[in-house]
Amino acid sequence: MALIVQKYGGTSVADPDRMKAVAENVAYTKRHGNDVVVVVSAMGKATDNLIALANSVSSTQPGRELDMLLTTGERVSMALLCMALADIGVDAMSFTGSQVGIITDTAHGKAKILEVKGDRAREALQQGKVCVVAGFQGVSTDKEITTLGRGGSDTTAVALAAALDADACEIYTDVTGVFSADPRMVPQARKLAKINFDEMLEMAGAGSKVLALRSVEFARNHNVPLHVRSSFTWEPGTWVTSEEPSMEDPIISGVVTDVSEAKVTVLGVPDQPGVSAALFEPLAARNVNVDMIVQNTSTEGHTDISFTVPRSDLKVAQEVVAQVAVQIEAKGVTHDNDIAKVSLVGAGMKTSPGIAAKMFRTLADEGVNIEMISTSTIRISVVVAASDVELAARSLHTAFGLDSGQAYSAPLPERK
Ligand code: ASP
Ligand code: MG
Repeated sequence: MALIVQKYGGTSVADPDRMKAVAENVAYTKRHGNDVVVVVSAMGKATDNLIALANSVSSTQPGRELDMLLTTGERVSMALLCMALADIGVDAMSFTGSQVGIITDTAHGKAKILEVKGDRAREALQQGKVCVVAGFQGVSTDKEITTLGRGGSDTTAVALAAALDADACEIYTDVTGVFSADPRMVPQARKLAKINFDEMLEMAGAGSKVLALRSVEFARNHNVPLHVRSSFTWEPGTWVTSEEPSMEDPIISGVVTDVSEAKVTVLGVPDQPGVSAALFEPLAARNVNVDMIVQNTSTEGHTDISFTVPRSDLKVAQEVVAQVAVQIEAKGVTHDNDIAKVSLVGAGMKTSPGIAAKMFRTLADEGVNIEMISTSTIRISVVVAASDVELAARSLHTAFGLDSGQAYSAPLPERK
């Protein structure tokens, strides 16, 4: 008998009809001889609505209380799903993250899972029950209720799948899989049949919203195969596994766009040891997620340092940087909200030269200016003006052969 973990996102359980459709799929899976653990997100826009409610009564919003509030969204879903399952004769039991033993650190709003005990889930399964778990939440080492950050239900699902040694983790969402680009931005985008963990990790890091970054890290570290698919069409989606791409696979798997970041620039920083540490240590201490960093070469002993952060962290970042700028005697601080990050991701990059050059040439031909660049072995990211993001993404998608599904092969190096 296989153990399947199924995660249903907010749109999949957005209303009573959706909830019943999900119950049918859970029942179908169970009746086909599988043990089933279900992880649910809050219904539709429930989490956004709770945040709006919090905003309307408070500007302080202590983390503990905000988490207490936000975790209710998932509790609504899990209870309703169990009721819908009862109606069609499936014995199911709901559990909060805390009940099922999802132990996190104490960082409210972005807690990290430290351990998954899972005892109550195992018990429920042993009794032949379907186990329905509230996503996106846990209990901290201080015994407080925590949330894992937006989109955190994916992480709950994968962490449970790893702890229970599940055979697969199905992530049901409103898209049919992982695409070669965001179809809303690049109409020619295609669904990928498979992709490996490293590529998916880079895609999530580059801003792809299909799977939460941490869930992919978990899946890779524990080798949990993921199947990203739609709860609207139920068709086969994209498999994310440890499989390395073969020679026939395209060099580039996708173009990822991210319009959720802002850029901060510290001007006229004295070029001496310790300055970057002085800047980034307090940012780290305040849990600001710094992404790209660029430091210019210095002229007359001074340099500029730019970095990007999620726009949601910008306020805190500005506070911190304003203080540090005074300490280190920088000449000023500016920020820019109107930026976008465009990334190319592909495991084939490791073995084929010239990808960066082709990327920059493509953007240059379109008149797109590059503000920052960063790379990993299988990713190249650039920051451009927000107004250029569609043009950049579409032209790269075409240039790297992603429109047609034809692999882009780098020209062979000239023989001497
Ligand atoms: N409901 C939470 C959110 O909207 C968690 C999730 O959907 O994964 O971020
Ligand atoms: Mg969600």
